Amino acid sequence: MTDPSPPSSLVENYHDRTASERHLPEKIVFWDETLRDGEQMPGVHFSTEEKMRIAGVLSEIGVSVINAGIPVVSPEEAKSVRTLAHAGFKAKILAAGRTVPGDVEAVINSGATHIAIFVAASNVHLQYKLRMTQEEVLQASVASVKRAHEAGLHVAFVTEDTVRAPLDYVERLYKATVDAGADRLVVSDTVGIMTPLTFRWFLREFHRRVRPKDWSVHCHNDLGLAVANTLTALEEGVNAPHTCVNGLGERAGNTSFEELVMDLETLYGVRTGIRTERLFELSQLVEELAGVPLPPNKALVGYNSFAHEAGIHSHGVLRHTLTYEPLQPEVIGRKRLFVLGKHTGKAALIDKLKERGVVATDEQVKALLDRIKSETEGRGKGDLHVLVQNHRDHFVNPGIKDEEFWAMVRASGIEVPHEPAASKAPVAAASREAGH
Ligand code: MN
Repeated sequence: MTDPSPPSSLVENYHDRTASERHLPEKIVFWDETLRDGEQMPGVHFSTEEKMRIAGVLSEIGVSVINAGIPVVSPEEAKSVRTLAHAGFKAKILAAGRTVPGDVEAVINSGATHIAIFVAASNVHLQYKLRMTQEEVLQASVASVKRAHEAGLHVAFVTEDTVRAPLDYVERLYKATVDAGADRLVVSDTVGIMTPLTFRWFLREFHRRVRPKDWSVHCHNDLGLAVANTLTALEEGVNAPHTCVNGLGERAGNTSFEELVMDLETLYGVRTGIRTERLFELSQLVEELAGVPLPPNKALVGYNSFAHEAGIHSHGVLRHTLTYEPLQPEVIGRKRLFVLGKHTGKAALIDKLKERGVVATDEQVKALLDRIKSETEGRGKGDLHVLVQNHRDHFVNPGIKDEEFWAMVRASGIEVPHEPAASKAPVAAASREAGH
């Protein structure tokens, strides 16, 4: 009997329907922040040698710009930046600094060819953090950009908290730095409060007013939207997105490099120029050197991202991988895994037996299946709770412990009272809204 309505294609691709609404840049400049914002994640510290290893893979894989760090942070950091700047990588080495003369000089002296000069733009940052007026911030920005530009550096001008700053001021500030020689403009969602739709509105407004030719976005993942917002920015023509491997970064992290690359490649068919088959290797290297284990369900590089246990799923994937996988694991250098457990079905088991050329009868398969199910259900959780506890112990305050710190203070001859003093920092009202 013939199928009365044979399918015309295996899956419909509705991304084609929205192609005309996307204004992706011709060339995407991947700007990696793993060694700067990624390293600012609590508990993460990369040695010079570790930064060299990560930068080496980033450069080989096709990343265009690597932020090596902020030289004024420490002598070790300055050494890292210098070493990376002189390593001869294909990727450009960038170093960052505030709108402070010493910071800019340190970058110039490091040998980095690119600088990111950053300052805050929103009123809450100006008033409470910088204690500077808009005019003072503008003057400092112009002077720093001018100095770096005259020293022959490629200059990116970055404002923190751009998306919560008054647009009239944002316009004035960025235009002034462009006049002073800024080559690339960076818009930041520092506390991760944009949504794709609002960010699109903001970027259109920014573009209408400032007319950037070369621009970046720096997104944070506080509410889980960093990748989505960055994708929106690319759709609006932003050409140099900031990313971190494994989504590392301050608090909940930054836009995940591997996710953004594969979103573009898989969903929009963009040739990013990134050697995607090395993405998993890069992810594992960073997981190891940062000491931040990946959640098993992390998109693409999590250990479960290409694993199937449930009977219906395994069966489908064995017949055709398109049933339950959006892309082939080999594309990012991974392998598919079938897990034998409580939810395993017949098809996966039969396929597993084939590995050794074993053909079993229906009854044998059923008996084996029952055994696998009861075995896994009865197994208990073993040392899993120890693993979770160790993980928590390490990540809850991974820096200098409180007792260690106060002992250090006492050891340096400072008297420390036993009772903590009341905190005087103003806090936002306990609202569900982000800083309104
Ligand atoms: Mn950041």
